[in-house]
Amino acid sequence: MRMPVRSAGAFCLSALTAALLLGCASASQPIVAGERPYDILIQNSRVLDGTGAPWFRADVAVRDGHIAAVGNLAGASAKEVIDARGQVLSPGFIDMHAHSDLSLLKDGRGMSKIMQGVTTEVIGEGVSVAPRHADDDDGQYGIKPDWTTLSGYFDRLRATGTSGNVMSYISAGQLRRYVMGEGAQRRPTAGELEQMKQLMADGMKQGAAGLVMALETPGSVQFPPEGDLSPAMPTTDELIEISKVAAQYGGIYATHLRDQGEHFEDGVREAALIGEKAGIPVEIFHLKAAGRPNFGKMAPALATLHEARARGIDIAADVYPYIAAAHPLSVEIPRWAHEGGTEKMLQRLADPALRPRLQAEVRKYMTTKYYNELTGASGADAVIVSSVPKSPGKYVGKTLGDIAREQGKDPYELVLDLSIEQDNKVGIVMYYMSEKDMVLALRDPFISFDSDGTAASPEFGGRPHPRWYGTFPRVLGHYVREQKVLSLEDAVRRMTSLPAQRLGLMDRGILRPGMWADLVLFDPDRVIDKASFESPHQYPEGISHVIVNGVTVIREGEHSGKLPGQPLLGRGAGSP
Ligand SMILES: [Zn+2]
Repeated sequence: MRMPVRSAGAFCLSALTAALLLGCASASQPIVAGERPYDILIQNSRVLDGTGAPWFRADVAVRDGHIAAVGNLAGASAKEVIDARGQVLSPGFIDMHAHSDLSLLKDGRGMSKIMQGVTTEVIGEGVSVAPRHADDDDGQYGIKPDWTTLSGYFDRLRATGTSGNVMSYISAGQLRRYVMGEGAQRRPTAGELEQMKQLMADGMKQGAAGLVMALETPGSVQFPPEGDLSPAMPTTDELIEISKVAAQYGGIYATHLRDQGEHFEDGVREAALIGEKAGIPVEIFHLKAAGRPNFGKMAPALATLHEARARGIDIAADVYPYIAAAHPLSVEIPRWAHEGGTEKMLQRLADPALRPRLQAEVRKYMTTKYYNELTGASGADAVIVSSVPKSPGKYVGKTLGDIAREQGKDPYELVLDLSIEQDNKVGIVMYYMSEKDMVLALRDPFISFDSDGTAASPEFGGRPHPRWYGTFPRVLGHYVREQKVLSLEDAVRRMTSLPAQRLGLMDRGILRPGMWADLVLFDPDRVIDKASFESPHQYPEGISHVIVNGVTVIREGEHSGKLPGQPLLGRGAGSP
């Protein structure tokens, strides 16, 4: 993995003599009198190096973007000195699955992420930023995309500037869209598959992290992936073929499983099969047993993952630490009603002849699946409206049950009406996971973390899932300190070196001389998430400093105005 600027390996390991001159001193090297000062000196911190080893007390010096020295650095001089007494210094956190593709072009500060200590996020899921046609209509946040390739997007990102580093997957859904047109309900021809593979290769050469696919379709997907599967979704074989190309360039295959509910374990097995057949590392996004009837399925799913690893398949997963998820309300509408695209679907929702059947199916789906363990509410009462384009004040933050009672209508009739009124653009947050399952995943040694969220700030408005702001501090404060589900050393390892390794970022994720200086300073006794479902736009507490590529972005909890983040290019970057 490389940043376009300069590789860490070349910087520190090339020549010992040069190392002294450049200040690449290791702990054992004395501070040379007259040496130019460090950029940053962090004194008296408890260092958690990201490997899972216990903390040790040391000073850490940063120069020219990299960690220059770790040890007793008394007497050293630096342009910026941070007294870290009582705090823990660790490598920056890596968010394995993020949706900041366009939001970072609106506000490069990416406040909801950098305030959590996230120094690298990986974007691209259902759609990815590239490849795209110049005239594709896919803007958001007032951003009009003007690139067609991944390199073009990265150029735009560099021009905007970002607090943190960004990696990107190429989505198989985006490849289909690009080659076969929007919403194609068929299998690709051999020629089209070939074209997708070529585009995948191009993406890898431009620095993609790998292939990604969100395999869940509206109306609950059934296995096997051949047969009854919506033809709008790639088959296992199609994914294996494209994954082989990503593998050639050192990429990974990342996936939102085809089914996270009834066929959760089949979904895990399919991911492992793709890893095996394509010879590619696999990352499962937000591992969850979704829906009340599926509570308890995390243990067998984790066993399946462990068993695959024992067979030599490099598969792992990430989670977010919440028992509620978020998605568009349209997912609640049965699959048959989606046939032919959004406009056709909205016509069906309004058709009096179809409404009773639709209403009954939505009722069955939602009442079976949604259940809030904390309150005992189920169905529409366990679903909160998070965003609507029209009159948000009337809906946002209320449960579908509340809105239905206000309007004196059946909540599942409301689902149809609201979808029509809001042009199918309703976002919801719904309770459908068990804490017990989630804790099992949080305890597992090869689970890392994802926000599945957007880098935003309170000015973005709406009522997003609190994971946008709270994921990492929630693990550290709630699950490490308060619930003692995992140790601090292990949590930090799984926020830093584990995801760095998965992404091939060999010069990040561990706090050691020569590595890029992505660092987080936090108080383990105070760190906690503040974002809630009621009030999600809240920054966490207890994280005082965040350093990216050797530059202090968060100082004493405030943004410094600096945007040192860079696109991080995958291993295939620059291949012929
Ligand atoms: Zn997803």
